[in-house]
Amino acid sequence: MKAIVTLNAGSSSIKFALYELSADGLRFDAGGKIEEIGTAPRLRARNAQGDVILQRNWPQGNAISHEHLLEDLFAWAATQLGDREIIAIGHRVVHGGAEFAAPRRIDDALLEVLEALIPLAPLHQPHNLAAVRALRALAPHLPQIACFDTAFHHELSALATRLPLPRAFHDKGVRRYGFHGLSYEHIAGQLRAADPERLGGRVIAAHLGNGASLCAMREGRNIDTTMGFTALDGLMMGTRSGALDPGVVLHLQMQLGLAAQEVETLLYKKSGLLGVSGLSSDMRTLHASDAPEAAEAIDLFVRQAARQTAALIPALGGLDGLVFTAGIGENDPVIRARICESLSWTGLSLDTEANQRNANVISAKQSRILVRVIPTDEEAVIAHHVVQLIRPTGSNFQ
Ligand code: AMP
Repeated sequence: MKAIVTLNAGSSSIKFALYELSADGLRFDAGGKIEEIGTAPRLRARNAQGDVILQRNWPQGNAISHEHLLEDLFAWAATQLGDREIIAIGHRVVHGGAEFAAPRRIDDALLEVLEALIPLAPLHQPHNLAAVRALRALAPHLPQIACFDTAFHHELSALATRLPLPRAFHDKGVRRYGFHGLSYEHIAGQLRAADPERLGGRVIAAHLGNGASLCAMREGRNIDTTMGFTALDGLMMGTRSGALDPGVVLHLQMQLGLAAQEVETLLYKKSGLLGVSGLSSDMRTLHASDAPEAAEAIDLFVRQAARQTAALIPALGGLDGLVFTAGIGENDPVIRARICESLSWTGLSLDTEANQRNANVISAKQSRILVRVIPTDEEAVIAHHVVQLIRPTGSNFQ
């Protein structure tokens, strides 16, 4: 039996999953997350039944490198395998630039191209690629596949990719790309399964996690999205500012004397919920706090999300469905209710009880807009892409 490993390596976390591949297709076997890398790394993995099968802390804490953690993770995966054999590793790679509309097998040349994109995704791309390098060192014979967060947005219209700057900049790559594509691909697939005829009609998907963005889809076609040139654009996030008057960036540098690097750190790592609350980037911590700054950070998050959702409606010509996904979108009835309340003028109303229990459909019967909660599954999307890419024609991998 064959197996596939997926990896989503970030700055402070590594998500992973192991899939079994048989004649019947892919089956999730186990997966989890290493969190708080850099401070107090801890790992938790679950099997397909949801039981915790591994928990681990690293006593040396902040001294543990990503490479070391990946080595430990790979060693654990080997103990999980039994008679199964890992045949490929799929990686989430945030930026695939203008070139890559589909996953690619990683070689030296591709790595070089992807490394050149680091300045466009400084928070994610270096960690995504470091994991690729670490795994290449650990298992040089294994094919590694890059699955890009930008790829799903390749079908955006030329207009949706254009920034209002002189044309020469667009031609140099200063354009809108869009991100969270693996998550939206999963949502689009779920909508296709739920509503094969219209794929939910005119839908806005709200990926609300540490990173947050919106994607407007009409009958499965990607129409517009809030993240643009970088994953800084659009909604306010855990530590990222989201869309900002560009004059603020000029002012920070020219009047307040911040160096470019300091502005980058400010906008990617110190802004958003963390910056406004002065307390935390984590929505649960903010809910638990009675500090007025925490309440204001939540208010601003909701206001931005509602405003930018409404701003996507003209491109769709109306709205039939709203989907919530990712950490906050899947688990936080308060935030969902508040965003939906701000959109009640569209004819949207929630079923309070369904919303409270994170049900699949949370809109009220009379609501003009169907509101769903769909757990995202970027790992499954990566695993499917890996199979498609490495499967020899006619093979069923038995
Ligand atoms: P993600 O990046 O998708 O893992 O999402 C992380 C965000 O989801 C953090 O702000 C968490 O506080 C938030 N989150 C996760 N679980 C919950 C929950 N049960 N209630 C509220 N927020 C949650």
